[in-house]
Amino acid sequence: MTQNFLGRAYARYYAWLLRMGMLGAVAFGTAVAITGSVLTTAVVMLLIPGPNDFFWYGMIVAVISPALTAPGLSSTAFKMAYQLKATQTALKLAAETDALTGVANRRSFMIQAEQAFAEAKAAGTPFSVVMLDLDHFKAINDTHGHAIGDDVLHDVAQACKAALRNSDCFARFGGEEFVALLHHTDAAGATKVAEVLRKTVAALALDSHTLPAVTVSLGVASFAGGSEGLHDVLNEADRQLYAAKAAGRNRVMAMRLAS
Ligand code: GH3
Ligand code: MG
Ligand code: MG
Repeated sequence: MTQNFLGRAYARYYAWLLRMGMLGAVAFGTAVAITGSVLTTAVVMLLIPGPNDFFWYGMIVAVISPALTAPGLSSTAFKMAYQLKATQTALKLAAETDALTGVANRRSFMIQAEQAFAEAKAAGTPFSVVMLDLDHFKAINDTHGHAIGDDVLHDVAQACKAALRNSDCFARFGGEEFVALLHHTDAAGATKVAEVLRKTVAALALDSHTLPAVTVSLGVASFAGGSEGLHDVLNEADRQLYAAKAAGRNRVMAMRLAS
């Protein structure tokens, strides 16, 4: 409890320091130190009777001493706040990113999908999910080796991410399976996006000249404000994906859930 309170207080202090910038933090820290030093020295000097000069000598020391030490201490506090923020940002990014492909990981996708679901449910707006699985990927590993397989996964993921809007989320769901979260997109719109992804992947080997040809099968499901839950939407996208596999691969299958 106390630790939480202290943690929050430190976080607010560090955020505030960062907002001021290095010069602002040094100026503020030095001003506070000098003010505190002058006030305490003045009180002590007034309580101890002595010659007038004695008081003013004390005041000069009360200003000079913190003026020499506070800038260094303030800049150190600022640098610590800056490094802490940079470390927190890097850790957050690492916790949300799939190390091999550089796109979002499943955990990050689920957090964003839960949010999109809650928003869509409250506002009555649609959103869609596209599940995507590489076709015969095991054969690519077997023929070209695991390292080339890794390169294919990376390039497919990056190409798909680049083909989507910045506001959408493209994530590695596991193995050679990926998922796209399309905000404010109904089934018809999502089917078009899925077709763009399919063509993007099919064109990849031609563009790169170094990768083996690869295709993907895609399943589309949409939430249209009905009574279904997020997992119903994800399961439906998965069913459509396997229907696309069964129908011959390298294709999109979509079904809008009944509202
Ligand atoms: P399908 O068209 O039915 O999806 O066939 P598939 O060969 O793609 O599917 P299968 O499930 O048989 O094989 C998936 C392969 O994906 C097997 C596994 O070794 C490979 N794989 C999963 N994760 C990785 C990875 O991180 N790197 C590499 N190189 N291969 C991976
Ligand atoms: Mg596969
Ligand atoms: Mg698979």
